[in-house]
Amino acid sequence: MRRRHAASLDPHAISEFGRRLRAWYRRSARDLPWRRTRNAYRVLVSELMLQQTQVSRVIPKYHEFLRTFPSLAAVARAEPARVLEAWSGLGYYARARNLHKLARELTSDGTRSRVRLPSEPAALRDLPGIGAYTAGAVASFAYEVRAPLVDTNVARVLSRVFAPSLSPKRPRDLKRIWAIAERTLPRTGNATWTHNQALMEHGALVCTARVAHCDRCPVSSLCATHARAMTLRR
Ligand code: SF4
Repeated sequence: MRRRHAASLDPHAISEFGRRLRAWYRRSARDLPWRRTRNAYRVLVSELMLQQTQVSRVIPKYHEFLRTFPSLAAVARAEPARVLEAWSGLGYYARARNLHKLARELTSDGTRSRVRLPSEPAALRDLPGIGAYTAGAVASFAYEVRAPLVDTNVARVLSRVFAPSLSPKRPRDLKRIWAIAERTLPRTGNATWTHNQALMEHGALVCTARVAHCDRCPVSSLCATHARAMTLRR
């Protein structure tokens, strides 16, 4: 069933969708600090901070946290309370606790300083606090692995464009949205980096939860939700 949904997508629409989305991203993306790095630790910190917290609040904390803890080994060597203190203001402290656990696990309690986060989503998912989205994000944004990722923004964009009947809140539908995310990836890891950033940016700035700004959407002519709304208006 899941396969049928993703497999039924029109290949031309898929390639146009990706092409227009990436072109829009190159013109319109915000310059965010974690988009300037391929350091996996920095990407991971940004992704953990961005879960549940707005970009404007994350930016200063991201810089501050990395000044205090410039590496995974530095996190591992610190007492958990110090890491929580550096996380203060962001809330959802389980993220900081998991980061500390993960750092201790990978660095043998801080004794190994030259450690590398895994680059494959499956290996990343074995680490504390890393779910499917974060694993895809670290693989794609740090290592340019051709990996899909689906968070609430991405799920909204993909379901609105390709499958308006799917609801990201239903686990079975969410699986189908992941399959669509995979099916719509470009061929290379490098293009996937831009594609995934563009999907997230589009969900944050254009196809938002509150308002769908279809009038300035680069993929409106391919969007099933938009087509349906236009038909109803006629
Ligand atoms: S056309 Fe509208 S609903 Fe469709 S993706 Fe663009 S902003 Fe979202």
